[in-house]
Amino acid sequence: MSLMLHNTLTRTKEPFVPLNPDHVTMYVCGPTVYNLAHIGNARPYIVFDVLFRLLQKLYPRVTYARNITDVEDKIITAAKANNESIHDLTRRTEKIFQEDMAALHSLPPTVQPRATEHIAEMITMIGDLITKGHAYEAEGHVLFDVSSMPAYGKLSNRNLDDLIAGARVEVAPYKKNPVDFVLWKPSLDDMPGWDSPWGFGRPGWHIECSAMAEKHLGVTIDLHAGGHDLIFPHHENEIAQSTCAHDGAPFAKQWLHNGMLMVNGEKMSKSLGNFYTIQDVLAMARGEEIRYYMLTSHYRQPFDWTDEGLAQAKSCVDRFYTALRSIESVQADEPYMDPEVKAALLDDLNTPLALARLHEIVKDINKTDDATKHARLKAALLGSCTVLGLLNHEPTAWFHEQSNVDIQQIESLIEERAKARRLKDFAKADTIRQTLTDMGISLEDVDGKTLWKKLG
Ligand code: AMP
Ligand code: ZN
Repeated sequence: MSLMLHNTLTRTKEPFVPLNPDHVTMYVCGPTVYNLAHIGNARPYIVFDVLFRLLQKLYPRVTYARNITDVEDKIITAAKANNESIHDLTRRTEKIFQEDMAALHSLPPTVQPRATEHIAEMITMIGDLITKGHAYEAEGHVLFDVSSMPAYGKLSNRNLDDLIAGARVEVAPYKKNPVDFVLWKPSLDDMPGWDSPWGFGRPGWHIECSAMAEKHLGVTIDLHAGGHDLIFPHHENEIAQSTCAHDGAPFAKQWLHNGMLMVNGEKMSKSLGNFYTIQDVLAMARGEEIRYYMLTSHYRQPFDWTDEGLAQAKSCVDRFYTALRSIESVQADEPYMDPEVKAALLDDLNTPLALARLHEIVKDINKTDDATKHARLKAALLGSCTVLGLLNHEPTAWFHEQSNVDIQQIESLIEERAKARRLKDFAKADTIRQTLTDMGISLEDVDGKTLWKKLG
């Protein structure tokens, strides 16, 4: 059974055939670091993290590059508004982003190139595009000449003539064509800038990804991914730049796009103001619960974010850990990916189906007392969850950590209750149980031991 992935370029699900089966390459457009990422931004970094984990199981070497856009006009505006230097703003935001990703259990990509550290590569690529007749200089700007590329618009299924005809009244008089886009633009003295053959300036956003992808992954890469909103113009322009700079060599074999995270039928976005930052959501739920929730929907579908959905995800994760804790003393067999979980993930990352299968495994754990079966089921549960980035904690620790309670106090009350029961003072034991219930702690007596967890 091979990995099938939906390719935005062909609009079909296709077998994934890497250029080099010994070394798979993948690029995901990273964040622009000017303020806190919202939970919609987290979606590509969670779903494509599952893809990264799966590819690592299937191939000997995977290089995953996710850039940091640390030069972009939104950054200049935000730094001014904060009265903060651009360097301080981008580094501070980048650090929080990395902490957010770690909290959501997304693995660090193999490389995380910063745009500001690849200006030379961008200047070289822009120079090549000019030499090859795909770009031109005008008034300190360099623009990509869209009319030089007849295939422009293939990814987003747009026709070049329609695009030109439909373009808004020209606002930049130096452009030959309204759809031509910026590769390089002039910077004023108080803006970030670098010397270039076209004067002191800075790169456009699209060229950043083309140059960093080439530097870290080569001319043609296996997979390129990002949110659906990046298909046009960002990814279309990345394709134009890279294929034209490389004499027609394909840029990415397969393009993957996640659907948008929505709130009340609208895309979650900074500009609409309808967003929760990742930090906001981490105050309501733990990273693994958020991650679980995100994976309950197929990555290509829009995702409707609701408080009820998050609450349900929390109780599902609780169910997984409760089952795991009930067999904590069982030595698992060698962890493996359950064949049905694997089949679901190989089918264009069908995470909802994979989670449904995990619930069946949990059900099987709960309904048997057979130690051999438990050892096998535990191995399947743990092995499958590794690929999804779930069940990263020891089960007892999961229930006790971050429960905002005094663990020592609870454990001494439980000990006191056990003592009362041994002395057959059941009234006292019941009173202690009630005290714990009032503290929001539920108890379960299993095999002579008392397990506890914080409710809600
Ligand atoms: P940005 O920092 O705006 O470039 O976004 C970073 C990533 O988040 C890109 O891959 C976007 O496509 C993605 N993204 C932005 N908003 C949403 C949303 N509401 N739902 C899912 N993905 C999103
Ligand atoms: Zn990009």
